[in-house]
Amino acid sequence: MLKSVSLHFWTALFVLSAVGSVACGARPGADVVTSRLVGFHIDMNIAQFRGPYLKQELKELAARGYNAILWEVENNIRWQTCPECVSPDAFSIAEFKDILAYSRALGLEPIPLLQTIGHCEYVLKNERYRSFAEVPERIDQYCPRNPEVLTFLQKWIDECLEVFGPVRYFHLGADEAYTLGQCPLCRAYAAEHSLSELYIDHINALSRPLVERGIRPAIWGDMVLHHPEALDKLSRKIMIFDWLYDRYDGCGTVQVWGRGSLTREELDASVLERFGAFLYPLGDEPGRDPDPFYTSDFLAANGFDVVVCPSSSCYGDSVFAPRTFFHMRNTADSFRRGFSPRLKGAVLTSWTVHLFPWELQGPSIGIPGFLKGRPAGTPDELQKAYTLEHFGLDDPGFFIAAGLLAKRGLFNYAADLGFFKDARPAPIGYVSDRIEEIAKSGRLEQELADCETRLGEYRRGLALFQAYVERARSGHEELMDWILAARNLVNRAEASRFLLRDRLGRVGPGAGPEVRRILEDLRTLRRETEAAVARRIKPARTVEIMGWIFDSTEAGLAQAEARAGGR
Ligand SMILES: [Zn+2]
Repeated sequence: MLKSVSLHFWTALFVLSAVGSVACGARPGADVVTSRLVGFHIDMNIAQFRGPYLKQELKELAARGYNAILWEVENNIRWQTCPECVSPDAFSIAEFKDILAYSRALGLEPIPLLQTIGHCEYVLKNERYRSFAEVPERIDQYCPRNPEVLTFLQKWIDECLEVFGPVRYFHLGADEAYTLGQCPLCRAYAAEHSLSELYIDHINALSRPLVERGIRPAIWGDMVLHHPEALDKLSRKIMIFDWLYDRYDGCGTVQVWGRGSLTREELDASVLERFGAFLYPLGDEPGRDPDPFYTSDFLAANGFDVVVCPSSSCYGDSVFAPRTFFHMRNTADSFRRGFSPRLKGAVLTSWTVHLFPWELQGPSIGIPGFLKGRPAGTPDELQKAYTLEHFGLDDPGFFIAAGLLAKRGLFNYAADLGFFKDARPAPIGYVSDRIEEIAKSGRLEQELADCETRLGEYRRGLALFQAYVERARSGHEELMDWILAARNLVNRAEASRFLLRDRLGRVGPGAGPEVRRILEDLRTLRRETEAAVARRIKPARTVEIMGWIFDSTEAGLAQAEARAGGR
């Protein structure tokens, strides 16, 4: 009963604030209290989007009820501060300013994001900046005690502000600083103070000039939740974007930063002492689950303005298709929570290192718009509304098909294809080397069994999409994107299965035609995928993406074909 009372209270507030945010969205500069952020994250680290495609999608996002864009520009602008990191076909400053003006005219308030301390691969991989790294053997983290780093970042922040024009918020990134406190300077500082203070001092220093200009700095939440000891020292002018991609109401686990994903039973005294009141706001009696969004309430109770951040594309997804239902639940519950009276909204993240396009994230991207009409909408209602609007069908077959493509398999996700956020080429022999690794660890049989299971699911998913496109009254283009994803997944599972069987010595003398057919399919799919990627992504990056997705699998199959020919 209590739950339903509070749900209705939030529901009413959501409607009020959603109406407010649409009205205020067209007027950047409106008061943060009356207009909660309904944001979408545009990550151009990997997906260096083409201008016309960006404009088309910005229009779509505005129509779907968004009022802000978190711009992770990275190397897709011709920065003067860091010319070495600029990608060959990056936007000129003038081109990007034109996109920003277009976005503002649509009522999408720009929030610049310049990654600081962690995830600075695109900078640190350049020789000139290697001395900025926390540890020499890694390229992901700056040293926060290196005074040159601070000067460099302040200069870059100034350039960002020049490009973006007047903004209310500036996001400093600052997540996943995995080597915090490891260099001699930082180790000494942390020993005298704490890791928490080391991080917080740096963030405060970066934030000060922004605050002096009347801009609210923002950071991702994981580091201060992992190291909360000195939280009192972090400026309350700093907003916290609390990212939680694996959580939804009823998911059964909670994220405890520094500890991982914990069940109710694993929440020990040290966790409960700090977070207990937020994990169990109504008490921990049997039958009450810990609140998966407790971190946002914890930070808000500590005086911070907090924005909840779900994801429609993150680790755990393949390069071809997302975990649709999983992301929908995370997105819906995060936006609902972001609109609770204590919090300041929500921003949907979409990490493009996972490569599949925004078009396949539609069910999650559409959620803020859906919630406006039905703030307490259930997943079933959400699915029904989606298929009616997109395909003119009251038919959940679309979601059954998408669900069959949701699980990752061998050689169909970034880490298993040898490429990462640093955007360096994957070794051509990656797939063959991985097969050897699997053989050495004695897991060939298990991988083969998993592969058979995935192949069955992907094939059923493909057949369902092919039947759905026949029935659909609209949305054929979107369904064709799904069919391309399904065909790629089927082909990749067939390729993996062949390579595993080959390594197990189970490929007979007549296997030539089979491997040739799989290789020909892969090459056909490569051409079709390249055409689809090239419509959205700039030419130089399209070539790199094709290399990541296809090169090492194609090479592995070509070797297998040569062996089969010799049998
Ligand atoms: Zn350091």
